[in-house]
Amino acid sequence: MEPRILELRGEIDRINRELLNLLSERARIAVEIGRIQTELGIRHYDPVREEKMLAYLTAENDGPFSDGAIKKLFKEIFKATLALEERQDERKFLYSRDAKPETTQVKVKNAVFGGGPLLVAGPCAIESQEQMFQTAEFLAARGVKVLRGGAFKPRTSPYAFQGLGVEGLKLGRAAADRYGMAFVTEVMDTRDIEVVARYADILQIGARNMHNFALLKEAGRSHMPVLLKRGLSATVEEWFYAAEYVLSQGNGQVILAERGIRTYEKWTRNTLDLSGAVLAKQLTHLPVMVDVTHATGRIELMAPLARAALAAGVDAVHVEVHPNPKVAMSDNNQQMDFAQFDEFLSRIKGLLEPAPKEG
Ligand code: PEP
Ligand code: MN
Repeated sequence: MEPRILELRGEIDRINRELLNLLSERARIAVEIGRIQTELGIRHYDPVREEKMLAYLTAENDGPFSDGAIKKLFKEIFKATLALEERQDERKFLYSRDAKPETTQVKVKNAVFGGGPLLVAGPCAIESQEQMFQTAEFLAARGVKVLRGGAFKPRTSPYAFQGLGVEGLKLGRAAADRYGMAFVTEVMDTRDIEVVARYADILQIGARNMHNFALLKEAGRSHMPVLLKRGLSATVEEWFYAAEYVLSQGNGQVILAERGIRTYEKWTRNTLDLSGAVLAKQLTHLPVMVDVTHATGRIELMAPLARAALAAGVDAVHVEVHPNPKVAMSDNNQQMDFAQFDEFLSRIKGLLEPAPKEG
């Protein structure tokens, strides 16, 4: 190699090192500013400040880089710095895996969410003693540990069946106890938390209530395990923030449930966002469930998607099962009958074995 080139490359290496040191020093100062901004509740991105810095730099620029090139280079530095500040914020959230690296286990009766794959199943709505006992007996015999059933139903029309209320809670509890299962049911109103907590093992916060911050806080204060469904049009970040509301009340027992989001697609009830579920596994330490019933509304899709979700490492799969879906009082078309559940189970069985250790 030409000695002069070698010499100049040595100079470049020295300048690279200096640039690196300066960039790192700049980043450390920016992170400190970011920390103070977070404390004060001020957002990090300040376009006016960025404009001023760029105007100053281009005014000072004597070449050989064009003003455009200088702007482009510095904008990249600003972008990387902002990402660093946001990452810093992320770390302090209670839901974050950075805050707590090991997966949280939520234990209810014989079931451990986050301790190997689980099934949660039962009818959409609790309708009668016979319906609940038949379903619980059938599911328990197949190793299902968590029974679901709605007593307070969020219905699109106010004239549709709204659930049996407290009577339904009692039936759900009795059926779960009779067959040694845990019982999960939805609570829609802060005023009902006390009574639902009396009968249920897990409080479900439904998709339509994911943004109900008063309900999230009260569920947090109840110190009951909370199953938090993702909102119909909620981003992953909004879903995590909703979980943070519960966690911030000192209640660490939160299970995240992906149940499909609204898209333009009409051939499925919703669109299962498997990437959202996997992001939840990677970015949070909370157990994650995938509800293939509400995500698809189509029984023929449920086993393949449950397989995909379990293969992707989620902690639980949720399906609706009813002894006679044709006469069900809600969600007729998407609830499996017993034979369909057996078929479903045979198709996912291999994936219900305990997951290999993380790492
Ligand atoms: C349910 O699980 O009963 C229910 C209504 O689901 P979602 O809130 O996800 O629509
Ligand atoms: Mn339903």
